[in-house]
Amino acid sequence: MLDVKQYFNLRNELVKSSQGNAYAEKYHFLQKHWKYALRDACANINAMLSNLANQIRKAVQANELVDEDEQHLIYYLLSMRELWYYALTADQAVLAQLKPAYRKHLSELEQSVTAKQRKHAYSYLRRLTRRYKYVPRKHTNLNRSMAYDENMYRFQGEELKQVAISSGVSRQQFAFSLTSPWHYRLKGDLQIILDRDKKRIEIHKVIQARQKKKYQGKQKLGIDKGLATLVSCSSGQEYGKGLSQLTGPQIEKESRYLAQRNPYYGRRYQLKKQIEKLNHVQTRTAIIKRNQLSVELKQIESNNLGHKRKDRRHEALRACRESFINHAIKEMIEHEAPSLIVKEDLTFTKDKATKKGNKYERKARRNLSSWTKGTLNTRLEYYCQQYSIDLKDVNPAYTSQYCPNCGRHFEFRFGKHNEKTICPNCGEMNCNIAASRNILARANDKEIALYTPYDKVKAILDQRIVS
Ligand SMILES: [Zn+2]
Repeated sequence: MLDVKQYFNLRNELVKSSQGNAYAEKYHFLQKHWKYALRDACANINAMLSNLANQIRKAVQANELVDEDEQHLIYYLLSMRELWYYALTADQAVLAQLKPAYRKHLSELEQSVTAKQRKHAYSYLRRLTRRYKYVPRKHTNLNRSMAYDENMYRFQGEELKQVAISSGVSRQQFAFSLTSPWHYRLKGDLQIILDRDKKRIEIHKVIQARQKKKYQGKQKLGIDKGLATLVSCSSGQEYGKGLSQLTGPQIEKESRYLAQRNPYYGRRYQLKKQIEKLNHVQTRTAIIKRNQLSVELKQIESNNLGHKRKDRRHEALRACRESFINHAIKEMIEHEAPSLIVKEDLTFTKDKATKKGNKYERKARRNLSSWTKGTLNTRLEYYCQQYSIDLKDVNPAYTSQYCPNCGRHFEFRFGKHNEKTICPNCGEMNCNIAASRNILARANDKEIALYTPYDKVKAILDQRIVS
C-alpha cells in the first residue's frame, strides 16, 4: 500500500538493488520497459485503492449504527494512506513517521469517541477493506496492450501512414504501416493493443470528446459509404452530397501537378547515374563536369522537387475535405437522431481500382478513397462518443448486390456515379441506400457474423433467394 504510493521511490530502490538488471536479463528487455510497466502498475493500484476508499466511505455513511464522531474517525483514517495502513496492521512505526500535527489530530478524534466505539471503528474499517478489496484476476479477453509514451514511437512517411515503435532491442525500431493516416496529435501516450480476434494491432489514443447531454437517439440507422455522396442511410436520406464535385477537380489538379513533376524525376535519375559514373574518374574535366551536374541536381531537388509547397497544398486540401466530412456526419446525426449506427467494417476492404483517367489520376483517386474511408471511420467514432451513440461494425461482403426487400440479386448498375440498380422484382432503386438497409439488417443477422468469409456469405445469400 505504501510502496506503490510513490512510484519513483520504488523504482529507485529497484535500480539501487540492481533488481532491475535482473528483470532486464531474465525477460530480455530494456531497463525502461520494466520502469514503464512499474509506473503503469503503480498507477493502477493507486486508482484501485482510492476507489476502494470511496466505496468504504459510502458503506460507512449508509450504516446507521455508526454515529457522527465514529464516522469522522473512520473518514480520517481513510484520508491518508499511512493511517489506513496503520488501521489495518496496527504498525506503530508507520504512525511514528507521520507529522506530529496528524498524530495529534488522530488522538483528538480517538478521544471524542468511547473506547468501545474506537475499537469498533478500527475493526469495522478492517472488515470493510477485506470485503471490498479487489482481487487480482486474469483478464478474460485475450487482448494484450502496452502503453507507449511519446519517446517510444514516431509517425512517419507520406500522410503519416507509418508508425515506428521502439522494440525490445536497444536502438532498434519496429515500423509498420497503418490502414489509414494518423489525424491526431503526435504527442502523448499511445496504447498499442494486439487484438487476437481481429488479428491486428490497434493503436488507441485518448482524445477528449465532451459528451452532449441533451441528445436523445430515436432510431437504428444503417449507413454505407458512397463515392458520389459520402454516406447513404437506411432511412433513404443521403448526406455529404457533392463529394465528387469537391474531390473531382482536386484529383485532376493533383494529377496535373504530379505529371508536371514527373520529367524532373527522370532527369534526377539520369543526373545521379552520371555523377556516380564520374565519381571514379579523377581527371580535371571529369571533376568539372561532376560539379556542374551536382549543381543541376541540387537545383532540381530544391526548386522542382521540393516538398514544402507540396506538403502545404496537401495539408490545405486535407483540411478542406475533413471539414466536409465533419459537416456531413453532424448533419446526419442531427436529422436522423440515431441511437445506433451500423456500418461496414471498413478496415480491411480493398479499394476497387478504377480504369478512368491517367495513372496519376487513378493513384490520386485510390489514395483519396482510402483516406476518406479512414477519416470517415475515425470521425464517426468521435461523434458517436460525443453523442453517446452506439456504433456497430458488420460484415461488408455483398451488401450492395442483393435487394433488401426480396433478397434477389441485382442485375446491373447504371447512372452517373454508378449509383442506380434494378431488382428483377422491385424495379429501379439506389444501390447505396439498398446497401445501407442490408447493412442495418446484418446487425441482427444470426448467420452472417462479422468475420464470416466472403464466399460463405454469398452462399448464404443465394440460399435465401430460393427459400
Ligand atoms: Zn427486390
